[in-house]
Amino acid sequence: MKIDHLGIAVRSIEDSSKFYLDAFGLEIAETETIEDQGVHVALLPVGESRIELLEPISDDTTVGRFIRKRGEGLHHICYEVEDLQSKIDRFKAHGVRVLDGYPRRGAEGKLVAFLHPASASGVLVELVEKART
Ligand code: ZN
Repeated sequence: MKIDHLGIAVRSIEDSSKFYLDAFGLEIAETETIEDQGVHVALLPVGESRIELLEPISDDTTVGRFIRKRGEGLHHICYEVEDLQSKIDRFKAHGVRVLDGYPRRGAEGKLVAFLHPASASGVLVELVEKART
C-alpha cells in the first residue's frame, strides 16, 4: 500500500493551484471532470503521491456541501490497495461503513471506494485499486 493522493477541496482550481504551481513549484499532471462525483479534478505529483485538488461543479455536490459547511481544506486521504473488492469485504467484516457498499469509477477511470469518516476518526478515506500491469 501507499498513499496515492491527498484530496483537497477548493473553490477554484485556478486560484488554488497558484500556491502549488508558483510558490511550491509543483506541476499539474492531469485534469479531468468526474460527473459522477460532481467535481473537476487536478492531480499534482509529489514524489510517488499526488495532491488532488477538487473543485465542485456546483454547490449541490458532495464537495460543494463540504466547502459550504467547513470551508476549503483537506477532504480525504486515498490509499492505493490491491484487490479492492476483497479490501471492501474486509472493512465491512470489521464493521466499517463503506459508502455505496461497492467500488465506483473515480479519477483516471480507476476503481475507488470511500469509507465513512465516522469509521476513521473523522477522516474520509478513499481506496483506489492499483492498476494491474
Ligand atoms: Zn481522491
